[in-house]
Amino acid sequence: MTLSNCDEIIELIPAFVLGALDADDAARVATHVAACSRCRAEAESFRDVVGLLPYAAGSLEPPPHVKRQLFARIAAVSDHPVTSTVQRPQRSTVRSPLSGRWVVPALALMLALIVGLGAATFEARGRADALAAELAANRQTLRSLEVQIAEMRQAAQAVEAQLIAAQRELDETRTQLAASQRELREIQASGSKDEQLVSFIAAPQTVSQLLETTERAPEKASARMFMQPGHNRLVLLIYGLKSAEPGKVYRLWLAKGNQAIAIGTVTVGPDSVAEFVVDAPEPMDAYDQVMITLDEVDTAAQPSEEVIFEANL
Ligand SMILES: [Zn+2]
Repeated sequence: MTLSNCDEIIELIPAFVLGALDADDAARVATHVAACSRCRAEAESFRDVVGLLPYAAGSLEPPPHVKRQLFARIAAVSDHPVTSTVQRPQRSTVRSPLSGRWVVPALALMLALIVGLGAATFEARGRADALAAELAANRQTLRSLEVQIAEMRQAAQAVEAQLIAAQRELDETRTQLAASQRELREIQASGSKDEQLVSFIAAPQTVSQLLETTERAPEKASARMFMQPGHNRLVLLIYGLKSAEPGKVYRLWLAKGNQAIAIGTVTVGPDSVAEFVVDAPEPMDAYDQVMITLDEVDTAAQPSEEVIFEANL
């Protein structure tokens, strides 16, 4: 066995690693690699690459018959003068076309092809994995955004419901406030009305007169009127009168000669008391009679026959 040249061995290493050398060449390379660290490193790096192939390229390892056919085709092409440009020293032994250095360029090419395909497949697979991961991440983001939107929508609906409730409460409060104000004004007005009534009745110039009751007046009913000479105001205090039945009213009339004027209707409270304050069209001195009748609601042209109280002034 001659000492092999490193360059020569390195050319054989791919085929050696793939187990494609004949026994002599394989033994030669093995011996050299055992002794030469540089070629050993080369062989190991190829072994590393070949070790990646099943993972990277799956079933790209060709079956033996395909390998043989491929080698035969490469050998046939290599017999062509144009392609066999590399001049090599003649070997003493006769070699089959499938063995030795013919195989090396083909194997290197195949290896490069396999490694390239594997790398491409690996790279494509890697890119597909990355895209799938990105897609999954995007899907997750989308889902979480949808959840957020749904939550925000729900929150907005809750806020809207609160707003509507608050608005309703505000409206109710406003209504209550308005009612309270109205009530207050009524109390103030009635207070001032009572005060006016009292001060009018108590005034020294006020004269009072009891009205006569007719047979139509309830027992114990009484009516007293208050007025001031030269003034239009008339105050009536009536006791013991029942509320008028539906469709009827107690109406106050002032008469001057033959003409009676309807002045207003008298409302009897639940305690059978009626207070009536009115300003007549003329001073009370101008009238000569006052009457309270029980009338139909809608007939105010003439006093009815149902006179309850009357007085001549
Ligand atoms: Zn070497």
